[in-house]
Amino acid sequence: MLVISSRDLARQAVRGPRYTSYPPATELRPIDPSTIDAELVTLGDAAVALYIHIPFCRSLCWYCGCNVIPTRDASRGDRYVDVLALEMTQLAARLGARPVIRELALGGGSPNFLAPGSLRTLITMIEATFDLAPDARRSIELDPRTTTAAQLAELATLGFTSLSIGVQDFALAVQDAIHRHQSRTQTAWLIAEARRHGLADLNLDIVYGLPCQTPTSFAATLDTVVELQPDRIALFGYAHLPDKLPHQRLVEKAGHMPDGEERATLLLAAIERLTAAGYVHIGLDHFARPGSAMARAASEQRLARTFQGYVEHRADTVLGLGVSAISTTPRVFWQHHVEVEAWESAVRAGALPVARGIVLDLDDQIRRALIERLMCDGRVELGPLEEQFAFAACTYFEAELARLPEIQQLATYDVAHHSIETTPEGRLLVRNVCMAFDRYLQPLGAQRFSATI
Ligand code: SF4
Repeated sequence: MLVISSRDLARQAVRGPRYTSYPPATELRPIDPSTIDAELVTLGDAAVALYIHIPFCRSLCWYCGCNVIPTRDASRGDRYVDVLALEMTQLAARLGARPVIRELALGGGSPNFLAPGSLRTLITMIEATFDLAPDARRSIELDPRTTTAAQLAELATLGFTSLSIGVQDFALAVQDAIHRHQSRTQTAWLIAEARRHGLADLNLDIVYGLPCQTPTSFAATLDTVVELQPDRIALFGYAHLPDKLPHQRLVEKAGHMPDGEERATLLLAAIERLTAAGYVHIGLDHFARPGSAMARAASEQRLARTFQGYVEHRADTVLGLGVSAISTTPRVFWQHHVEVEAWESAVRAGALPVARGIVLDLDDQIRRALIERLMCDGRVELGPLEEQFAFAACTYFEAELARLPEIQQLATYDVAHHSIETTPEGRLLVRNVCMAFDRYLQPLGAQRFSATI
């Protein structure tokens, strides 16, 4: 049980990366495409996860932080799939070997913007181009306001098992303020229909820190979420970055924005409510049913952290397809153009549609491994890292370990286990702990990021 007050929690909140990657995506810079070509050739038969970004949504939610194209023109989805087909063929030709795809994720935007026929075309193309492992996990993000019974039936036929369903908040005042109206009935229908089709791994996304949220209204939302019995819940703090995302200025005008202490109150109440309902608190912001694949992976310290958040299967390589998609290998990260026109013209010209990237040096790789374990397990044993990278951790991280007492309530170095351990409060502020090991973080640069609570 947490014994920290919301005031103390808010006092320690700072701005920092979400550490879905290290180095953070803000460090990606223009990169020579030949570096990526060389990396693709050497992948060999590495286990690969495939991520496909579908950027379209029927309308724009004002809090949205994703790369989204709001449109009601359904034909844009068909055209987009045509370009994806071209990109997929080109990517396969660049790879040194035909890799086995262990995981397939469709994210967005709203992948269910695609009509059932386009979804089928897309999956058929993937199966024809790559070796999709028979037990590959197939997941997709859905907007319950626009998902149809025909799409759910098609997804089940296409072998999808995992759905991530956007909710955010059921309170009408909050939905007014964020320009996203979604009833409990719509969400409950989607869950029931998905289960009827055998789609058994269902995640609900909820967000704290939205305008007009109060402890009472958010408690009612959490009660509804618990009643709906999802297998997982992702509880995100609203990232308000209007300088980067100008449409978020509409959110500021829509109603009272919870301040730091109010955000901390909402977070602590949510953790209490969800754990009381039997969910296991995982990593920074996820909750899973006991015995579920994610809860098992967490207890066995097998969780991984990727641009999609927490995942229970580690694939050292993630290949992204589509506009703004990010790919990662153990040595290189790269991101596609974020404008659909630039991405499409590069693909049609037969070029890699890459806008920026980074080659990881040894220091990046060491810190990446350390930060990932902290984010996933709340602790990191330094011995295995020393073996993997042939270095002496206490000497290498002398300055960082010396800095830990400054955040003593959050993490300590345990001499006996040669490990860094976060405290219960430090689990909630694990981004603060990771920041102590982030060599890219500059005091002013931190303003580019969202609050850690
Ligand atoms: S449905 Fe999701 S991706 Fe689309 S605008 Fe709303 S929050 Fe953004």
